[in-house]
Amino acid sequence: ESAKPKYDYQSDVARMRKIVINSLYSHQEIFLRELVSNANDAIEKLRLTALKDKNVWDGVDPLNITIKAVKDEDGNGGSIIISDTGIGMSPDDLRTNLGTLAKSGTSDFLAQADKDKADGTNQGNLIGAFGLGFYSSFLVADRVYVASLPPKTAKNPNPAQHVFHSSSEENSFEVYPDPRGNTLGRGTEITLHLKKDALEYLENERLSALVEKHSSFSTAFPIYLFNQKTTEVVDEEAEAEDEEEAVVEEEVEEKKEEVEEPPKMKSIVVDEWLHLNSRPAIWMRDPKDVTEEEYKRFYSAFFKDTKEPMEWQHFSAETSGVSFKAIIYLPSEIEETYWQQPLQYQSKDIRIMNKGVFITSDLGEDGALPKWAAWAKVVVDADDLPLMVSRETLQSTRFLKQLKGVLLKRILGMFSKLTESDEPEKFEEFHKTFKTVIKLGAVEDLKNRDKLAAMARWHTNMRNLTSLDQYLEHRKQGQKQIFFLSEMGKEPEELAESVFVEKLHARGYEVLLLNEPLDEIFVQNVRNWKNVPFQDVAKVGLKFGDEALAEEEEKEQQKMYEEKFKPLLDYLRKKAFKVVRDVVISNRLVTSPVAVVADSHGYTANVQRMMSASNA
Ligand code: ADP
Ligand code: MG
Repeated sequence: ESAKPKYDYQSDVARMRKIVINSLYSHQEIFLRELVSNANDAIEKLRLTALKDKNVWDGVDPLNITIKAVKDEDGNGGSIIISDTGIGMSPDDLRTNLGTLAKSGTSDFLAQADKDKADGTNQGNLIGAFGLGFYSSFLVADRVYVASLPPKTAKNPNPAQHVFHSSSEENSFEVYPDPRGNTLGRGTEITLHLKKDALEYLENERLSALVEKHSSFSTAFPIYLFNQKTTEVVDEEAEAEDEEEAVVEEEVEEKKEEVEEPPKMKSIVVDEWLHLNSRPAIWMRDPKDVTEEEYKRFYSAFFKDTKEPMEWQHFSAETSGVSFKAIIYLPSEIEETYWQQPLQYQSKDIRIMNKGVFITSDLGEDGALPKWAAWAKVVVDADDLPLMVSRETLQSTRFLKQLKGVLLKRILGMFSKLTESDEPEKFEEFHKTFKTVIKLGAVEDLKNRDKLAAMARWHTNMRNLTSLDQYLEHRKQGQKQIFFLSEMGKEPEELAESVFVEKLHARGYEVLLLNEPLDEIFVQNVRNWKNVPFQDVAKVGLKFGDEALAEEEEKEQQKMYEEKFKPLLDYLRKKAFKVVRDVVISNRLVTSPVAVVADSHGYTANVQRMMSASNA
């Protein structure tokens, strides 16, 4: 055997493989999901590349994934072969894609693994959250061979099939020309030599159940499983012998009625390929025929979310002459990273398909959902987009722009249903996840501002989670403002005890207690509700609605106090001139002796605190 070039794994890959080999064996079964998902990606890439270069794929040659279990003849072991007719890998691709760590998710995985090790948490919990990708092969295999052949291109008209080989024992891998030559028409063939504790995967029942569980929803291309079945066929030889005898008999007993004898049969073994994911995609089916469980399983497989969805809507619609089917899911949690994204953020989880084949998740400038809705997990399958439509041409159609309107309307509908849910738990869950998104929407999306602002809720000094409409219904006679107090991060109970709230409370006014950073931006942008303006109770110049009667009286009293306490005021002004602009007698306090307030033209106390913190 000639020497095969050996390469050391990048150190992160080495670590990753070690974790996989040593501590994740209770998650063995995910290897199939990961490898099928890679095969699916590879075919997807081929199809997209072929839109630009016809040499790569003629549009006819079948695109599929095959799985074959091969038992060793001695019955002690075996291997699994997973093939695809996708984009394949050049020797360079084999080295970099499988030997180095390009995947950002994997480095997140390693960071989290370190953290969990320090915390003593079980690393197995990570698996669901991060795909392990190709390395999951080593969950079940002690030796892995990847044979791959990229498609013919103008640049590389005669590609040669190469093999990547690695074993769990060594921290290196080899890449060398396949001694068998170009056995694949195109694509990749992964052979896993199973470890002794993974031989259960040689059984077809196990393999087809796994595909059904993890891959049937997320894979657009057919997945075939190799099967050998025994079947009964007519035993031609035995029949032929019979016939000879019959001829002899005929001569002897010419007049005897002919009796039809059943043909002689024998059992033989035939090879077949079982189509595992032959059911139509879930969104193509009639919603009446899809169970709740199926919707949930589809969600977790398709959008790779380990948490169950909160709500979904499955519908058909038509816009700009294109009819389509869609499912919109609301996740039960919004990822941390969502909040760090800019307003132009587009997630990868709004997937546009054409007749079951993925086209794009880039909706273009006009088609992108506003950020407040960009967390949505959506699959849209159009019936009749022009065949082979490319991403670029799709963006220039009116379809995406109109689709945006349809999706937003549906999402708003789902929101308002949940907002009005008479199941308190359901409402609470919804409010917890989406309260900030709703406020963001009211700020950024002028078209839907009123609908979203109507769904916002806050605690008040008088009751829990009140809407602006409820607030106005509850207002006192003559009240011309919506009172609020805003302090980031404070509990509503603390805010209710604030000196700014106490006087209003004593007089029977309701005050919205705002404690999220977005709350302040909300009141600044929305400014009023049904023409009643927001009023910060921590700003000077605060007016109540019922003071008209008492106004004269108060003015008198104010004057009297100002004269009486002039020496004290002068003294305080002098002492405190560096920290406050002025010291005045106030009628807004009931039990507290003093309060520091923001200038009515200045920033709110909250924003001021933020600014001075950032200057420090
Ligand atoms: P990910 O799929 O998240 O990128 P993986 O570890 O699963 O990470 O795969 C690493 C890379 O190896 C892929 O991005 C792809 O470039 C390449 N690859 C893996 N399997 C295949 C395959 N069957 N055909 C072509 N390329 C593949
Ligand atoms: Mg992968």
